[in-house]
Amino acid sequence: MRRVLILGSTGSIGKNALRVIELFKEEFKVVGLVAGRNKEELLKQAVKFKPEAVALFEGEFPKELPFKTYVGLEGIENLIKELDFDLCLAAISGSSGILPTYWASKKAERLALANKEALVCAGKFIKETAREIIPVDSEHSAIFQALKGGEREEVKRIILTASGGPFWNRENLEEVKPEEALKHPNWKMGKKITVDSATLMNKGLEVIEAYWLFEVPPEKIEVVIHPQSIVHSLVEFQDGSLISQMGVADMKIPIAYALSYPKRLPLTAREENLSLSLFGLKLEFYEPDLEKFPCLKLAYKALKEGSYYPTVLNGADEVAVELFLKGQIKFTDIPKLIEETLNLSDFKEPKEIEEVIEIDRKAKEKALEIAKRWS
Ligand code: MG
Repeated sequence: MRRVLILGSTGSIGKNALRVIELFKEEFKVVGLVAGRNKEELLKQAVKFKPEAVALFEGEFPKELPFKTYVGLEGIENLIKELDFDLCLAAISGSSGILPTYWASKKAERLALANKEALVCAGKFIKETAREIIPVDSEHSAIFQALKGGEREEVKRIILTASGGPFWNRENLEEVKPEEALKHPNWKMGKKITVDSATLMNKGLEVIEAYWLFEVPPEKIEVVIHPQSIVHSLVEFQDGSLISQMGVADMKIPIAYALSYPKRLPLTAREENLSLSLFGLKLEFYEPDLEKFPCLKLAYKALKEGSYYPTVLNGADEVAVELFLKGQIKFTDIPKLIEETLNLSDFKEPKEIEEVIEIDRKAKEKALEIAKRWS
């Protein structure tokens, strides 16, 4: 039985992970739950899964609970230090997940990683400390599985699929409203990642994530638009074979795989709607339009520059998406704000993870400052 700590238990990935764990109680025991602000949901989860410890990033717990409670970032650090766990599902969204993911990576036998920002911004540090990282992101789970089809030196390229979001074939992106950007055609996810899918920044961050996970150079990582989200990504080997992983767009599949690898759980036997019917299945692939979606281009640029660039890219994007959702900037301003923040940033290469956090904070300040100047 694996002892599981979930960082980000009330988010979309966290909730799906708990659904998987509920289906396979004989395999996993939830020992720790960490959430941001949603105390009500966290306590509901705690009543059901009876963990040994829970933490909230922000808030307060009632007294006399049958488990240990922790509050704040320091509280989360203490929970990670004091709790005995084998596996950590790192699923906090955004850069606030970097430090908790890093702390857990030092202790966990396995890091099931969904917090892509941790690798984007602090890949170097997390790769140094983590014993084993199994990706949860559906594309990276697909690549992880497809890589088993050959040797590392036989890999010609990695192809990440992108649904393209709601706008890949729409004109006049200037006019896009937050409600439209929040309607993802295939996946149900949190707000930030849904907007990132619409700008293709999510794919850009995933290119950087793939670089750290699979140690392939940027020029060997490609992106194709695949509107059906059935092929979750592919690996091309040197003999021309393309190996892919396919399935319905449901995060329970990559989550279950990351939790139970190398075993595959009988998920389709216990969960409705997870089987993919091949009848009438249509699969399309298109080249991404980098002029229309400059975020993807910016992400490649940041990856090639390395050092602090990916951290600034990510921080500026978090600010830009928030401002867009508040109606303060246009959809097409998102890449402009990120680019300007990148252009106006100058930091030393981070030598410690704390410096990454500092760069993230300063990049966000800079992005806000630029946006203020615009209005
Ligand atoms: Mg993904």
